[in-house]
Amino acid sequence: VSFGYSDVSPEEKTERVGAVFRNVASRYDLMNDAMSGGMHRLWKDRFVRRVKPRAGEAILDMAGGTGDIAFRHARSGAQVTVADINPAMLEVGMERAKKRGIHGLIWAEQNAETLSFGDREFDAYTIAFGIRNVTDIPAALREAHRVLKRGGRFFCLEFSTNQWPGFAEAYDAYSHRLVPKLGKLLANDEDSYRYLIESIRRFPDMPSFERMIAEAGFVRTNVEPILGGLVAIHSGWKI
Ligand code: SAM
Repeated sequence: VSFGYSDVSPEEKTERVGAVFRNVASRYDLMNDAMSGGMHRLWKDRFVRRVKPRAGEAILDMAGGTGDIAFRHARSGAQVTVADINPAMLEVGMERAKKRGIHGLIWAEQNAETLSFGDREFDAYTIAFGIRNVTDIPAALREAHRVLKRGGRFFCLEFSTNQWPGFAEAYDAYSHRLVPKLGKLLANDEDSYRYLIESIRRFPDMPSFERMIAEAGFVRTNVEPILGGLVAIHSGWKI
């Protein structure tokens, strides 16, 4: 499997992704704003509008990190579980929730590939900017399908491939030069941000990822590109 510019064993990828998020946890929210010019907030708002969480629903926000998506879901009165493989990210999230007076979230340390939840527990499964960090993506998609109830919905927000002419060159220059520099400047961690950019470049394009979702058993799959596919919302239903 790929890790940044090199190929590594699956175990090593999981290990190194763990190190990336341990290192960036305390600066994670600041860096998101710096790197996206605040735009990640709008993408997340739009994503949660598509998910349409409702009071009384059980929602699993996978790779939930510091809680950005879960906090938005929670406004609906849904019962939200935030799950992430990295305890450092969850800790920052719990601290943020406390500061904002958001109560009632369930925080769980979980690997998306091997969830400890039972079958058909959730009405919706969401994953934002998380799936590309998972080592075995098909396994994570199968697990998503397993833990959803019949009629449950899957939503994924992730960087993808922009299809506007000329955009790729500008974006490459930005991402390969500026982002690692920002990482060094703001988080003193150039390598982690180099990995994050490279993992975006290597992620399957929109039709390929949509196919993977269908292969995991989801139906009525859909993809909604944002900014020409720089970011995309993939979705599917379990019947
Ligand atoms: N969803 C949050 C957001 O949008 O701000 C956090 C996204 S952050 C870029 C990616 C998260 O994926 C990290 O918190 C990382 O620990 C988590 N992650 C990576 N591999 C994972 C896995 N196998 N299972 C669960 N979480 C994982």
